[in-house]
Amino acid sequence: MRFETKAIHSGRQVDKSTSSVTMPIYLSTTFERATDGSYPNEFVYSRENNPNRHALEDCLTSLEEGHDCVTFASGMAAITSLIEALPSDKPRRVIMPNDMYFGIRSLLSKTDIGSKFDIVIVDMTDPHEVKKAIKSAPTGLVWIETPSNPLLKVTDIEAVAQIAQEVGAYTVVDNTWATPVLQRPLNLGVDFSLHAVTKYIGGHSDLMIGAAIAKSNSPMLANLRAWQHSKGAVPSPFDCWLALRGVQSLAQRMATHCSNTSAIADFLKHHPNIEAVHYPGLAEHPGHHIAERQMSSFGSMLSFQVKGGWDEAMAVAAKVQLFIRATSLGGTHSLIEHRASVEGSTTMAPSNLLRVSIGLEHVDDLKEDLLQALE
Ligand SMILES: *Cc1c(COP(=O)(O)O)cnc(C)c1O
Repeated sequence: MRFETKAIHSGRQVDKSTSSVTMPIYLSTTFERATDGSYPNEFVYSRENNPNRHALEDCLTSLEEGHDCVTFASGMAAITSLIEALPSDKPRRVIMPNDMYFGIRSLLSKTDIGSKFDIVIVDMTDPHEVKKAIKSAPTGLVWIETPSNPLLKVTDIEAVAQIAQEVGAYTVVDNTWATPVLQRPLNLGVDFSLHAVTKYIGGHSDLMIGAAIAKSNSPMLANLRAWQHSKGAVPSPFDCWLALRGVQSLAQRMATHCSNTSAIADFLKHHPNIEAVHYPGLAEHPGHHIAERQMSSFGSMLSFQVKGGWDEAMAVAAKVQLFIRATSLGGTHSLIEHRASVEGSTTMAPSNLLRVSIGLEHVDDLKEDLLQALE
């Protein structure tokens, strides 16, 4: 089956007992045993497995062309579990990129993850930097995020995965911004593809789920499944159901997201009050050629720097009428935010930078809104 078909059918079927076309929501926490003590279906207790969660995991496995998928109650729960699932025979050293989701930087600074692991930050757009870091000490895990947050930096997934593989380090790609429609990291040699399902896969800003899809069976995958069952940060049946509803239109949504964004990037680039536009779809973006090779299109996240500083950027965000001033991304509504003020004193975002998630509104309405806000 092709992607669009799998998005609608994988992991699901017409309900045998009622013939309902969409899957029921199984809220039951527990499942009955047969008289001989066995479980006639695979379900025992909902923390261990649940029909809605199982269907979502099957579907995401098939969309990422992986071996298995483990879902969690949020993207951050999946990220924390993945890092902690690093098998104990691997060095506790993790290489991460200098531009990455702010929630991970908070995780490292505010929880014991940052002290239990030796975190090494490099400019991952340069594979030589990764090679240098990996050669300087034994490493267990290489964390990739591409395109990255908030500067849309692009990492060569295949090159970095190969460097990691040579020393037996596991690799993860945070594939949230690209989605499995645009980028399939597992086919580029990576061990895990990670999603905040919260974003594009859910697609409507109304659920929180995290998912890690594994390329193959491994001790790290076994740990991750055990963490899910025993540490228990599982997604609710209703959120899984919403994600399975959202994912059905993922490919079609991404097509519009991408074409809208490419038009907006072009429009912003030519606006006199703009200093810089960060979007890998632009030919002059330093990662454009790598993105072109490893992605089928360039996504719907972009950031831009307004001429001036903090105040000028805040003024633009204050003037938009259609864009909503909110964090997050990947939904139908277009969102805008001033990253430096969201992230606080430890931010690395330029003070004149605005990040936008381009939604599914008509592109001309979005352009007109930005145009009047930039005046
Ligand atoms: C949102 C996001 C996350 C975290 O997901 P939550 O569901 O908010 O915990 C991780 N990585 C990226 C790239 C994200 O955009």
